[in-house]
Amino acid sequence: MYAEVIIDLNALELDRIFDYEVAIEGVEPGSRVIVPFGKSKTEGFVVKLKSDTEFDKSRVKKIIRVVDDVPAITKENLLLANKMRLKYHTTYASVLRLFLPSEMRTGKVRKKMVTFASLNSEIPYEEMINSLRKGADSQKGVLEYLYANKKTKTADINNMFSPSALPSLVKRNYVVIIKEQESRSPYKTLLDFNANVTLTNEQTNAVNVCLNSDKPTLIHGVTGSGKTEVYLRLIEDTIKQGKTAIMLVPEISLTPQMLGRLRGRFKDNCAILHSGLSAGEKFDEWWRLRSGEAQIAVGARSAIFAPVENLGLIIIDEEHDGSYESETTPRYVTSEVALFRSKYNGAKLVMGSATPKIESYVKATTGEYSLVEMKERVNGKPLPEVIIADMRNEVRSGNPSPFSSALKYELETALSEGNQAIIFLNRRGYSQKIICKECGYVAKCEHCDVALTYHRDENVLKCHYCGALYAMPTGCVECGGININYSGTGTQKIVDELSKLYPNAKILRMDNDTTQNKEGHHKILKEFGEKKADILVGTQMIAKGHDFPSVTLVGILDADMSLYFSDYRSTERTFQLITQVAGRCGRANKPGKVVLQTFSPKHPVLNLATNYDYKGFFEKEKSLRMATHFPPFADVVRIMVESSDDKLALEVLKTVYFSCKEVYDKNYNFFVYFNKMKSPVKRMKNKYRYQVLARINGNNRQIIDEFYEISAKNTTKQVLCYLEVNPSSLI
Ligand code: ADP
Ligand code: ZN
Repeated sequence: MYAEVIIDLNALELDRIFDYEVAIEGVEPGSRVIVPFGKSKTEGFVVKLKSDTEFDKSRVKKIIRVVDDVPAITKENLLLANKMRLKYHTTYASVLRLFLPSEMRTGKVRKKMVTFASLNSEIPYEEMINSLRKGADSQKGVLEYLYANKKTKTADINNMFSPSALPSLVKRNYVVIIKEQESRSPYKTLLDFNANVTLTNEQTNAVNVCLNSDKPTLIHGVTGSGKTEVYLRLIEDTIKQGKTAIMLVPEISLTPQMLGRLRGRFKDNCAILHSGLSAGEKFDEWWRLRSGEAQIAVGARSAIFAPVENLGLIIIDEEHDGSYESETTPRYVTSEVALFRSKYNGAKLVMGSATPKIESYVKATTGEYSLVEMKERVNGKPLPEVIIADMRNEVRSGNPSPFSSALKYELETALSEGNQAIIFLNRRGYSQKIICKECGYVAKCEHCDVALTYHRDENVLKCHYCGALYAMPTGCVECGGININYSGTGTQKIVDELSKLYPNAKILRMDNDTTQNKEGHHKILKEFGEKKADILVGTQMIAKGHDFPSVTLVGILDADMSLYFSDYRSTERTFQLITQVAGRCGRANKPGKVVLQTFSPKHPVLNLATNYDYKGFFEKEKSLRMATHFPPFADVVRIMVESSDDKLALEVLKTVYFSCKEVYDKNYNFFVYFNKMKSPVKRMKNKYRYQVLARINGNNRQIIDEFYEISAKNTTKQVLCYLEVNPSSLI
């Protein structure tokens, strides 16, 4: 027998299939194996077994050993890997890596085994006790203890009794030792109570449409319409049929919350896949799914690769979220992978959002997806009223603070009534930039072409692209001037200002800086949920999904921010953000209010968002994109060329461009746009960045495939080229 093995080294030239002889038991497609490779040993994945090889048999080497008892990669995932490899023009190995937690591949984690002692049930207890010699008190104690307490950890027995007692009893065959795997389960205390609610009519309808549809279903439901409860019912139905489910949430900060709700209903049937877990926890949760012990996988994007078999349901919550697109190789799109898995397994695919992606809603209107609309909040209350605060007036009337008078008034009301408020701001840190007032010098990162942000807590300047830290200068580096100005306001500064205004209020901050450690998100949200704080200040992290019944006010400090990006998605993103943030309040019995601060109060998108007019927004945006040829009516394709050597990067860019130009010349009627240029952020993490940017109409797969090949062909050790299709960010 021979095996085709993919070697787990991610170098393009090695992405070949190697044949090995199988002379040991347990090798199956999907098995991880250790094989001789060159002069050393390496890990690989078996992708196929065959009875013969076309290579010289005397030179084909033997597989050394199999790593796991069960093949780590399921048959379905092997097929999926192959599809993805072809579609995204990437290596087999780099796709296969998505299917296993990284720590597992390097062999650094193992199952945690614990030994237990238990009485030998074949010998009557009395007989054992009576046969002990006089004075063997410890042995007697152990027997009595095990009789009363049954199976006990050997470590505990040895702590309670003389350590020689247990071995003696084992020797006499009175006590048997059992080895069991102990699960390192994350978030052990997370368990929401299971509210046994009666579904609203809209929820019942949504569940029925999802169950009866043979197409993917898009649930367009306003915030607070009870989409989560619909998901839970669908999962329940799936589990009853003996199948498995995958539940995806956009941010890792939302996974614990969802896990709590799932555990409340499905107990230990759920496993969490989460990049923030310890290696041991990741390993155990992964195996609980692989072994079938857990049937529900919950996690962010990468949980779509959960090693479950017999998949019956995939849910993508907040489907519009940008985090569902991978930003590292392989650059996959989660919904595409989900569609494959759902087709392969005949599983239901359900996507939900209060603000679906334009692309998804187009599919729902053309019949590619089934559509469910949920228009009412569960509590029967209207969506929160939105007050627009015109910041131009505030400036004119001499208000220097980041808060409008409307927001201050509403904050005071909310606090005095014992309610909670959320203040949303797109920027973390203390101030966005520091500028020398004398020469206009702006402090920039040495490795990236971006301004540094001042963080007052640590008194440092941080680069938000590469994380580099710099000491706060006492004077201007350029001209030596000492008049340094802070411009732009970040979350830290907002917290400062709020505590000056409301010295008695307890304020929490949630952004990338306060959520660095493992359960950081969870701790802040828990504290706020338990009403241990009055105000939560945060970045987009707090915009999504959270359900805090006591929040009656949301302040959006800089609603315009995302409007000024020159990206075709910026209006869509602004609409989504406002709807999502506003949706965090008035979710229980108390009505909510939103104060939206803006410098462009007449902007049409703000008007649509404050009226919660998704359909109006959709129609407008759709016709715009149709007329100007943007997704989903055309594809934005970008080939990035990155290198730490600027000249080399530019050279490769030209080669890439001229190769693409040949494709362009043959197909120019498909193209709306085609050009080469510097990327908007010209240098990041010491890499110079250039791009070929194109917009291509219609049935263009062939062209994109050719671009993929050009990009792969030009990647070398010094220059990285990669292709993105409709990327969520074009920086
Ligand atoms: P969405 O995900 O659509 O924003 P959620 O699923 O979080 O909304 O539901 C909003 C709130 O309503 C939650 O607190 C939830 O527990 C509650 N809820 C959902 N369905 C029902 C129901 N049928 N009866 C009573 N309360 C419900
Ligand atoms: Zn940097």
